[in-house]
Amino acid sequence: MTTPIRIAVAGPRGNMGQEAVKLADRTEHFDLRAVIDSKNNGSRLKDMAGMPELDIPVYTDIHQCFQENEIDVLIDLTNPETGRKHLEAALVHGVAPVVGTTGFTEADIEKLSSEAEKKQVGVVIAPNFAIGAVLMMKFSKMAAAYMPDVEIMEMHHDRKLDAPSGTAIKTAELIKENREPHKQGHENETESLAGARGADIDGMKIHSVRLPGMVAHQQVMFGGAGQTLTIKHDSINRESFMPGVQLAVEYVVANKVLTYGLENIM
Ligand code: NAP
Repeated sequence: MTTPIRIAVAGPRGNMGQEAVKLADRTEHFDLRAVIDSKNNGSRLKDMAGMPELDIPVYTDIHQCFQENEIDVLIDLTNPETGRKHLEAALVHGVAPVVGTTGFTEADIEKLSSEAEKKQVGVVIAPNFAIGAVLMMKFSKMAAAYMPDVEIMEMHHDRKLDAPSGTAIKTAELIKENREPHKQGHENETESLAGARGADIDGMKIHSVRLPGMVAHQQVMFGGAGQTLTIKHDSINRESFMPGVQLAVEYVVANKVLTYGLENIM
């Protein structure tokens, strides 16, 4: 029998955190030991409204959590500001973080990557844990080699803090590997309303839609002479992200480097 992976989840009351708690509880070789919440310090998870009947401690101080519990992996599903602090704390305590929180910059990733290497701790940061979304990104990169005029439209629920989404940025980064930078649209194009043409990366455009009722959706639209190609992915609920989170938890305990993007561990 393999030794269970001891897990702490940060953000357990959140949409994603709730799913991660369920995943850690139901997976045979996972052992959910603690949660880190923005409030409810000192209570038990089972005493928090809407939480499963699990008798595990709740902390607001992540350092205290790591001092009082032996944790192998931290699953962070909070916000960028908290996520940064949690990542630093995890590296200090030798806990391997799996980060679904989005909004990290390239500079954040570079800094964390050298920290992780120095400390010999595995880190996985993935802006999208949905396996279908990773396939959408891979197919988009492939298509860009043949159809270099592309616009990305990402659509999310209206509680999302960052725009454009981490997935849209990651998609653009992958497309960049197969596309020469060039301005799209008419050379004399103007905007009579600022932002009408969206954000710009190397001349490709990214549009962000925020509406209640949505979860996480993206269309990558390519245009060529007399034809268009649309690659579309929809996460219709947060369960869609959990197989990717599980894969990342299993990976991060065995690989002592920072890995950015689920595509690198699939
Ligand atoms: P959410 O519902 O707003 O949940 C965030 C949770 O984090 C809330 O419960 C919040 O508590 C908690 N939190 C804030 N500060 C905290 C702290 N200091 N310590 C502990 N918990 C804290 O958001 P969500 O939809 O679950 O998304 C969470 C993150 O995952 C976001 O960055 C989102 O973009 C990202 N995301 C990633 C993926 C992926 O596949 N990688 C998919 C979907 C979402 P309060 O309510 O008390 O502030």
